[in-house]
Amino acid sequence: MLRFATRYGSNGLSLWLRQSNCRHGLNARTILRARKMSGDSFGPPTDVEKIMLDSVKATGPISFSTFMQLSLGHPTHGYYMKPEHAVFGTQGDFITSPEISQMFGELVALWMIKQWMDTNVKVSFRVVELGPGRGTLMDDVLRVLKQLPAARGKLKSIHLVESSATMRALQEGKLRKASQEGNFQIMWHDAIEEIEPEEDVFTMLVAHEFFDALPVNVIEKTQQGWNEVLIAPSSDPSIRYTIPSSDLDQNLDSPPKLHHMPSRWTRVLSPTPTASSTLLGLASPRFFSLPVGTRIEVSRASMNQARGIGKLINTKGGGCALVVDYGADRAFGDSLRAFRKHKIVDIFCSPGECDVTTNVDFALLKESMADLVSTHGPISQRNFLTCMGIEIRAAALMRSASSLERKKAIEDGANRLIDPCGMGEQYKVLGAVAKGRGEIWPFAVIQDSAQQSI
Ligand code: SAH
Repeated sequence: MLRFATRYGSNGLSLWLRQSNCRHGLNARTILRARKMSGDSFGPPTDVEKIMLDSVKATGPISFSTFMQLSLGHPTHGYYMKPEHAVFGTQGDFITSPEISQMFGELVALWMIKQWMDTNVKVSFRVVELGPGRGTLMDDVLRVLKQLPAARGKLKSIHLVESSATMRALQEGKLRKASQEGNFQIMWHDAIEEIEPEEDVFTMLVAHEFFDALPVNVIEKTQQGWNEVLIAPSSDPSIRYTIPSSDLDQNLDSPPKLHHMPSRWTRVLSPTPTASSTLLGLASPRFFSLPVGTRIEVSRASMNQARGIGKLINTKGGGCALVVDYGADRAFGDSLRAFRKHKIVDIFCSPGECDVTTNVDFALLKESMADLVSTHGPISQRNFLTCMGIEIRAAALMRSASSLERKKAIEDGANRLIDPCGMGEQYKVLGAVAKGRGEIWPFAVIQDSAQQSI
């Protein structure tokens, strides 16, 4: 989603303001205003908030991971489950790269086909997508596969991992024709673990803007170890944990301290470690040396999904995967944000009505699958698409465009995807292939600032 992907540094507001002047539709003043407005008028509780309030009454403050699960994935009240939120694009709350231009999916398809041809062109292949949204990316991939003579008759099946029935219906409508024409089956799964690893099939997987929607826990290093940052009602005197989270300057990547805003919810620090904070503090060796006071967002769900990817590729038939999302090769401290109608709003604004998202720690994904596959990158989307030939593809599409408007739309789409001040740099691409293949195109040739480690 073209959501505002910030990389807040210790130099605070001025850097933040400068970055937000890039042309991705949001500027920092709008954000400050939106956050203030959403905090000032929190209105009656949403259905998700009612569940949160009940849960706090029963068992005390809730984790950020529970908050995200409820807000996005609650079977009836979650953001992705509601038909009115299934509109990605200018009418919806956000827009994504595949919805901006067909070239995105086409170039993803070319990368996957190249991996298959370089590995074992004799075996059949299948395509897996995690979080397919409206099915646009898969539709563009299938069109390319259909046109390549070498790939004809080799596509065995399509596997879509999608938790929302609303989204599944959209995907079914979009892909029905391609599936009938190509005579292959489309299968839907609730989780990646449901897809059987296959020995004699090459698996091509793509996950675009999937990992940013997976729940994170927020943990903070204290003198006693990792404690957990939890969510409690701001006005409830009966909550069991009442230690306020400290206002720490050492947080990785924190937004600038703005001002306190009235809200129904507040962050509290658990007085002792929780099961999650203890476990997640051990999730990466990178976390061991972080100083006391550091706060990080860690996603166990992302670690599991990344391992699932590794298991699907690590078979005799082999495979390849591309993960595209915003984030970097490191952990983030305070990147959680909520979106509504292309505006960033307070994270606790109308849970269930807003899209909630975090930056992706690509280093954690790599660590989670390192024993199973070899990983490459992440590199910027700009570098990836440029190496894959977006300019050549845009020129070809423009030559055959039927009108000046169409030509302009193609050009604008390409520019937007590789914009160095926007999506081109904010979005990163991680590649994974079976072990032992050596360097792979185009990761091998790119020295990219995205590759940094904390
Ligand atoms: N990839 C698409 C859509 C991104 S939105 C695009 O770029 O346009 C995230 C998608 O992931 C939605 O389809 C949402 O329903 C799905 N999703 C979110 N959390 C999920 C989960 N835990 N398991 C399966 N699908 C999930």
